[in-house]
Amino acid sequence: MLNQAIPMPRSVAKGVSLAELQRRSSRSSLDIDEGATPTLRDLAEALSFSPDDGRIWLGDQRMVLWRSSTFGSLRAELIARLGQEQARSLLTRVGYAAGARDAELVRRTWPGSDPVNAFHAGPQMHKLGGIVRPEAIAFEFDIARGTFHADFWWHDSSEDDEHIAAFGIGTEPACWMQIGYASGYASAFMGKFIVYREIECRATGASACRLVGRPAEEWEDPELDQHYFAPGLSAAGIRRSLAAPSLAPGVSPARQAAAGPCAEESALVGISSSFSAARHLIERVAPTPATVLFSGPSGAGKELFAQTLHAISPRAAAPFVAVNCAAIPDTLIETELFGVEKGAFTGASSSRAGRFERAQGGTLFLDEIASLSFFAQGKLLRALQERRIERVGGSREIAVDVRVVAATNVDLRAQVRAGRFREDLFFRLNVFPIALPPLKERRDDIPLLMEAFLRRYGEQYGRRVAGFTPRAVQALLQYDFPGNVRELQNLIERGVIMAGPDEPIDVVHLFRGGEIEAPQGLSPGVDGRLTEHGARAGGAGHPADAYREALVAARYNVSAAARELGLTRAQLVYRLKRLGVS
Ligand code: ZN
Repeated sequence: MLNQAIPMPRSVAKGVSLAELQRRSSRSSLDIDEGATPTLRDLAEALSFSPDDGRIWLGDQRMVLWRSSTFGSLRAELIARLGQEQARSLLTRVGYAAGARDAELVRRTWPGSDPVNAFHAGPQMHKLGGIVRPEAIAFEFDIARGTFHADFWWHDSSEDDEHIAAFGIGTEPACWMQIGYASGYASAFMGKFIVYREIECRATGASACRLVGRPAEEWEDPELDQHYFAPGLSAAGIRRSLAAPSLAPGVSPARQAAAGPCAEESALVGISSSFSAARHLIERVAPTPATVLFSGPSGAGKELFAQTLHAISPRAAAPFVAVNCAAIPDTLIETELFGVEKGAFTGASSSRAGRFERAQGGTLFLDEIASLSFFAQGKLLRALQERRIERVGGSREIAVDVRVVAATNVDLRAQVRAGRFREDLFFRLNVFPIALPPLKERRDDIPLLMEAFLRRYGEQYGRRVAGFTPRAVQALLQYDFPGNVRELQNLIERGVIMAGPDEPIDVVHLFRGGEIEAPQGLSPGVDGRLTEHGARAGGAGHPADAYREALVAARYNVSAAARELGLTRAQLVYRLKRLGVS
């Protein structure tokens, strides 16, 4: 069921034996090798604490540090409220979604990595997250053939700790969310439904938990486990059903509604609570003719929202006409909005319809409304009140059926108080206000936007870009984006152009104009304590400088410098050669 959703890793491991696995896992994590990523150390480096804005990241996914006992209380409440079977099913599915997401994260962050290591990153992330300590007993898979067999010990499971603390030793295994996670990770990785089963569990008195994973069809009695996974619902399906009825996360109906090359342009992308709130509001207001006022800083996506509002409204088939009020001189705004009759003034050599008339039956989007002159504000107010306009120099009134959507990047109330904006017009416009916060206040949207822009510009420029280096992901997640979504879009476009074929986008491809102050954050150091990182991330103006600096800092140990830059050794060597640095 996951076949279409998850692209396969590029190479295929053919029946990897335990001995091979042990050989690989016994290799020192300091010994950088093309095929070795992601090691536990790589994963630890992808974990980043950003205490100033209250965020923890694993790659591009937001994490939360919470007490094991809090999870325990939540779990006990669920069992008490829903009963054991329902609670188990719910936790298994939540775990499944998390595992599938982590598999995507690994695929995105370390594209083309060795399949064994990529697979192993799942258990490693469990370990890194302090959830359980897995130990492989046997492990074999062949993605092309669809065969899979895994046998693991789980030591010191946190879910068992909480279960035993709440309910004591019982007769049923209790690592539900963890089993869900293992199944979700393996299923997303294999592209088919892999069911893990806990055949021994500490919650039943065993000294450690033991889990076995196989393709669902290979279990003799798959129905035993499958109802916990709610068969037929993939992680994406769960997300879709949660997002019902009309909008899947990150995908607006405008994508379907808008035609031609602009379809992608009008797609809203986001998952943060403020984004979701705004999206919910446009869904509510779209079917009505109400005037909508968007507020938010430049580049926050006000026009995209307005376009989407139009596209999901009953006016979708009629024109969407946008006017940037700040871009049109005062002397021209009236003719621009309302049109002009021939001979109205010197130079009016022919009659021309204004934007209001051109938006007939559709939506007129007035951006930067606060920059309208008082005179133009009065004309606009009359058009809104009477639903009629008069061309400049004309003598007849023209009825207009236009929905007006306005946007402002300044506080209109403050403009009213300062006497710069008409109060009556403000109340006319402020029927249905929607605020779009700056990107730095909805950082959870950044990963989705990165992915969407990467895909868009990859297609547009015919470039196959391998994704982002962990360091680039970290830099983007911590950058303040004074230019908001538009700036992120520009950075990714630049990155797609700068990165070589099949090369992941790195910090030096993104930040070249000195726009970034070194992003600061904390990552676990070798001693396990949080230490500062990122001091070098954007400081250097030219890639060669950054590489030289990293080499000096690493005392010309190329592997260490590569690690510091979030590159493999081979990638760094290639770039150094290309740039003539030695
Ligand atoms: Zn267990």
